Amino acid sequence: MARVLPPEVGQVFAELHAAAGSEVRCEAEVVEVNGAGVCLHGGERMEADVVVAGIGAGPNDSWLAGSGLEIRDGVICDETLRAAERVYAVGDVARWMHPIYGSIRVEHWTSARDHARVAAANLTAELAEASKAVQIADGVPYFWSDQLGIKIQAAGWTPGTDVVHVRQDGARRLLLLGRADRLTAVMALDWPRELALHRRKLAAEVDFAAAIADAPGAPIDTPN
Ligand SMILES: Cc1cc2nc3c(=O)[nH]c(=O)nc-3n(C[C@H](O)[C@H](O)[C@H](O)COP(=O)(O)OP(=O)(O)OC[C@H]3O[C@@H](n4cnc5c(N)ncnc54)[C@H](O)[C@@H]3O)c2cc1C
Repeated sequence: MARVLPPEVGQVFAELHAAAGSEVRCEAEVVEVNGAGVCLHGGERMEADVVVAGIGAGPNDSWLAGSGLEIRDGVICDETLRAAERVYAVGDVARWMHPIYGSIRVEHWTSARDHARVAAANLTAELAEASKAVQIADGVPYFWSDQLGIKIQAAGWTPGTDVVHVRQDGARRLLLLGRADRLTAVMALDWPRELALHRRKLAAEVDFAAAIADAPGAPIDTPN
């Protein structure tokens, strides 16, 4: 997960999967998949009945080449999701200017939903030449998932994280991520109340040290 998360966070998830009986192999390059299983670079063969490939995704924007829109890993938009006159982009394909995080592209259901509301309001206002203020796409990115019976929630923006602090209370964990002394993202494992509390702090751009001071549970060391 190193593309989007710091190693300390990847380590937390690797430990969860290892405890559930999975073997995590990082930087193991697959050179062939055949009827017998998977062959790794270096000659190792792993037997397999089923192979699941999760190899990432990219924005489907190539069909817009030559349209006059600016395309750069997504459709480039301003903070109102406007890409050009009467053209707005929403969801995974939109790379927009977020007022806190700068130029970002987010692949979450909640962002697609929030974008749709903002873009529809702004497009109809533009078409009606209304004078009312345009809406800004300033939602804090948020997603949830379920793995190994654990509810995983994350809010904020994780790339560029330079500090991570982990709290534990029984099986519950709270991970605070920061950059340049600011709290920039929070992740919670089976701790929805703390996720909700810290999610609000992200929009207010609170100080990282202040966020740690307020966090519940016991601090745990994370290997770097
Ligand atoms: C395996 C997987 C797991 C995920 N899990 C989560 C999760 O747990 N939580 C979460 O928040 N998000 C998750 N996501 C991300 C989430 O699915 C996306 O962020 C969300 O679906 C984006 O919505 P969208 O409308 O922008 O794009 P999409 O849902 O991709 O819809 C785009 C649609 O446009 C169509 N299309 C593309 N090109 C054209 C064209 N030229 N003409 C006409 N139609 C076209 C496509 O066929 C598609 O139907 C997951 C994604 C994947 C792949």
